Amino acid sequence: MINVTQSFLPPMEEYIKHLEKIWASKQLTNHGPLVLELEDKLRQYLGVKHFFFVTNGTIALQIAIKALGLRNEVITTPFSYVATTSSLVWESCKPVFADIDPNTCTIDVASIEAQLNNKTTAILATHVYGNPCRVEEIQALADTHGLSVIYDAAHAFGVRYKGRSVLEFGDISTLSFHATKLFHTIEGGGVVTNNDELAHKIAYMRNFGHNGAEAFLGVGINGKSSEFQAAMGLCVLPHIPDLIRKRKAVSDLYTDLIEGLPLRKPELQIGTDQYNYAYFPVIFDTEAQLIKSIQFLNKNNIIPRRYFYPSLNTLNYVENNLAFDISTDISSRVLCLPLYDSLTADDVKLIVGVIRNAL
Ligand SMILES: *Cc1c(COP(=O)(O)O)cnc(C)c1O
Repeated sequence: MINVTQSFLPPMEEYIKHLEKIWASKQLTNHGPLVLELEDKLRQYLGVKHFFFVTNGTIALQIAIKALGLRNEVITTPFSYVATTSSLVWESCKPVFADIDPNTCTIDVASIEAQLNNKTTAILATHVYGNPCRVEEIQALADTHGLSVIYDAAHAFGVRYKGRSVLEFGDISTLSFHATKLFHTIEGGGVVTNNDELAHKIAYMRNFGHNGAEAFLGVGINGKSSEFQAAMGLCVLPHIPDLIRKRKAVSDLYTDLIEGLPLRKPELQIGTDQYNYAYFPVIFDTEAQLIKSIQFLNKNNIIPRRYFYPSLNTLNYVENNLAFDISTDISSRVLCLPLYDSLTADDVKLIVGVIRNAL
C-alpha cells in the first residue's frame, strides 16, 4: 500500500542512544536536557530568536491566541487544516473568513481588507503547503489597522522567503511536529516569536503560568513536551536536509510526468528562495475527475488525501460569510498525492499512470 505520507523513522540505534541518556538523567519531562537541546538546535536551524517546543501544533496556536490576548473577530483562511479555525473558536474568538488566491492558495489580501471592521483584532493566516503568504502586504494592513498577525506555519518548516526564515514574519508563528509532518517529534509543535515580551508570556503560559515552584505570573496551560518526544526530534533533525533533497526529487519527477494532464499545481509565492517540498497537491479541472482518480488509485492500494477538504467556512460551528468562494471550489478539486522520502520513481510512475487512465 502507498499512503499519502509515511513518517520518517531514524535508525533505531540513534533513538536508543538518547533513551540511555533519559535513563541516566531520570528526568522524563518538564524541560529536561533533551528538550533544552532540541530547542537550542531548532532555534539555530530555523534561524529565529525565540523558539518554544510544545505538545502539538494545536496547543501552539492556542498559546499564540492567548499570548496576544485576541478576542472578537479574527480574519482567517478557510483553506487550511481544521485546527486553524477550531483553535480560534476554542479560544472564544470569532473566525471571519477571507477568501484565497486561486493561484497560490494562500489568503487573499484584498479579501482580508474587505472583511475588516472595528471588531477585528487579528489576522491568522496559513503558509499552506509551505507556500509563504503575502507577508509584507499582510503586515502593512495589520500596521494600518493595529492588528496582530499569527501565521500557522505547520507546513513551513525550513522555508525561507527573501533570504529570511518565513517564521520571522508576523507577531507569532506556530509549527506542528506531528508524525505526518516533514520534521516530526511523533507529536509536538513549536511557537516562534521575535518579540521578547511575547516570548516571556509564551514561556510561562506553556507551563501552567508558573514563576518558580510557588508563584504564578498569569494564567497558563500545560503545553510541555517530554524527553521522549525531544529525543525523536534530535534524531530526525540531522536527516532533514537529506529528506528535503529526496522529496524534491520525487516532486520534480511528478511535475515532469503530469505534464499534459488536465491538472495544475498551486504556484509557489515569488520570493520563496528555499522551499521544503512538504506536500504535492494537484488541482483537477472538476471534482468528478478527482473522485474518479481517487477510486482508481484506491483500487491500486494508493491512498492520496483530499487536503484540504472541506473548506473550513462550511464547518457546522462557524458562520459561513463566504458565498461563492474560491476556497470551496478549490477544496473540492485538490488532492495531495503520496510524497515521502522513500517513495520510489516506479511508485511515482505507477501513481501518475493510474491517474492518466482515470482522466
Ligand atoms: C497539522 C496541522 C495543525 C495541527 O497540528 P497538530 O500538531 O496535529 O496539533 C495545524 N494547522 C495546520 C495547517 C496543520 O497542517
